[in-house]
Amino acid sequence: MGEFDLIRRFFQRPVRRAALGVGDDCALLAPGPGMQLAVSCDMLVQGRHFFPDVDPHLLGHKSLAVNLSDLAASGATPLAFTLALSLPLADEAWCAAFSEGMFALAAQHDCELIGGDTTAGPLNICITVLGEVPAGQALLRSGARAGDDIWVSGNLGDARLALDALLGRHPLPPALLTTARTRLEAPTPRVALGQALRGVATSALDVSDGLLGDLQHILDASGVGACIDTSLTTPLIAAYADMLGSEAIFDRDYLRQCTLAGGDDYELCFTAPPQARDAVLQAGAASATPVTRIGCIEAHAGLRLVDAAGEPVAAHFASFDHFAD
Ligand code: ADP
Ligand code: MG
Repeated sequence: MGEFDLIRRFFQRPVRRAALGVGDDCALLAPGPGMQLAVSCDMLVQGRHFFPDVDPHLLGHKSLAVNLSDLAASGATPLAFTLALSLPLADEAWCAAFSEGMFALAAQHDCELIGGDTTAGPLNICITVLGEVPAGQALLRSGARAGDDIWVSGNLGDARLALDALLGRHPLPPALLTTARTRLEAPTPRVALGQALRGVATSALDVSDGLLGDLQHILDASGVGACIDTSLTTPLIAAYADMLGSEAIFDRDYLRQCTLAGGDDYELCFTAPPQARDAVLQAGAASATPVTRIGCIEAHAGLRLVDAAGEPVAAHFASFDHFAD
């Protein structure tokens, strides 16, 4: 199977939204009237972002999911994406499963593959996603104000729990591993929530490298600080710990590490004024996405961690950084 057969068979699909899709030198696409294009790019590298033996169907899903998550964080509606693929060999079964996983998620979000590039080389997947957002209404990192509540969607920490189990760092009961593993390998981009938060949230981003490190980007961009209630950030992890009961194999610091700095969560972290609490809950309900209030924005710089009683929690949690020393 040559390069062009491979593209035709696995990656060329009819387009509706775009004026022109795969097959020409450029694809053609126009945002709706009064809309801005939202553009984001994420690369997944074997050995860095996924295990060499990962199920290609799940990998197809995740490669697009992490990109859609960026659109979600901006409050944008997905339109289209391009796929740059470096493949060690033209493995038909692998390409079929990968493209199926990718197109299944694309269909859920009405997001079309409109072009890309295919080359032989180490397995590497780079997707650029395009979305649209009413001009001036994109959610940014820079809008948080002192007094705003800080919220997160879904459950943080599951992906980290699964990753550590897969790396053999701790055992997990099979049922628990299955749940956590799905969150690691097939994350759900919070696209509907992001759109519902336009005009409600003052700032937003998606949590990909760990909550505290990512939240720091909002604080830096907005010139503010924050106080986080560490007891509020652990709904699912707490359920895990409860389930294990007295046989608990995790200590509290490890559970906090998962929720506060786990990485690969693809949940949204966002801020909104206290008057908007009902509106935030409505946005969560309308998008069938749980939302939890975990703290508040403060005027002075710095990130304080407290427990449920408001007592300081002394801890340093490093978020993921590809080039950390
Ligand atoms: P060019 O050499 O003009 O850049 P290519 O020969 O690389 O074009 O690709 C031919 C067509 O196939 C282009 O429309 C390109 O966008 C598309 N394409 C290539 N690889 C992929 C891929 N992995 N997924 C989707 N479209 C692809
Ligand atoms: Mg090319």
